[in-house]
Amino acid sequence: MNKMKVAILGSVHQRGWDFLKQSKFEAFEVKNFEIENLKKELEFVDGILLRTSKLNQDILSNCKNLKIIARHGVGYDNVDINYLNNNKIALGITSTSNAVSVAEHVMSFFIYLTKNLSLSNSLVKQGNFKKKSELPDFFELYEKNVLIAGFGRIGKEVAKRCQGFDMNVYVYDPFLDNDLIRKYNCIPIDKKEGLGLADYITIHLPLNKNTKNFISENEFKTMKNNSIIVNTSRGGIVNEGDLYQALSSKVIKAAGMDVFETEPPSNEHLFFKLDNILLTPHNAALTLECRKRMSLEASENIVYYLTDISKVNNDNLVNKSFL
Ligand code: NAD
Repeated sequence: MNKMKVAILGSVHQRGWDFLKQSKFEAFEVKNFEIENLKKELEFVDGILLRTSKLNQDILSNCKNLKIIARHGVGYDNVDINYLNNNKIALGITSTSNAVSVAEHVMSFFIYLTKNLSLSNSLVKQGNFKKKSELPDFFELYEKNVLIAGFGRIGKEVAKRCQGFDMNVYVYDPFLDNDLIRKYNCIPIDKKEGLGLADYITIHLPLNKNTKNFISENEFKTMKNNSIIVNTSRGGIVNEGDLYQALSSKVIKAAGMDVFETEPPSNEHLFFKLDNILLTPHNAALTLECRKRMSLEASENIVYYLTDISKVNNDNLVNKSFL
């Protein structure tokens, strides 16, 4: 019998490769993401393990045997989901892998942007230990208000960690029952009120037409001038031009961004001129532990879907109602 064929688009941890091999699947890595090359290399695959490259209808319609795309991650705005739904091709995500890693990244942003860590470090290394009183004021997270927008897998893990710091945790997620939010010892709140009382704001929404520019000029006007906003979800949910204005004119205190409207951002990006922003290269979920988990979980999604669907974690199949 011919082996099932899987294309791995981008580099993934060895653990996933080992699982595919042990399951007698044939896997190969695709390194050239140009459209014509993708069309050629993907033409006869049964499954695709996908990192961040874009798969549009033009590429997908050329795949003759494709039955499942397994995202290495949970966001799927880089795949034409309508095409998959119409053609009964499954879309898998790694729903149990990422949340802890991203939540820790959010806490790192909060602490770095609050505690003068970079200035303190430079001061000591420059031999100016005794000048510590010249550093600007710095603060505690203790008893501060945090607004979590989007209370899914990642939002819930962030809430737990904020509670560990004794913060007051407010949640904006109109798709959830308020009682569920209270069950997690968080306070449900609407968007405007939440933005108005938050010292920290962290965004955990999917990117879609309703969430594009979720935070723009009007929202910044509502925020306190000591507030710190962190976005580890998707670029474009926080409007970049409006964030630049808010930071440069000190309408808010600081920001942490892991994601950008265009990735990678251009070398002339406005954010690079600012001192009150901390930037990371979309690596909130790329701890070694998380990379291992995502590689394995994505490979399991492919193998189980194609060999024994009863083993697939139901939460991982995004478009099950279309299959
Ligand atoms: P999730 O689907 O578990 O949760 C999303 C939550 O947002 C849901 O509870 C939903 O009800 C809520 N929501 C949707 N639309 C909303 C709206 N308009 N207003 C308020 N709430 C709304 O998703 P998740 O796994 O927590 O991931 C959240 C985001 O993080 C996604 O955009 C994902 O792509 C991104 N992500 C980024 C990284 C990274 O490396 N930076 C890693 C993993 C996930």
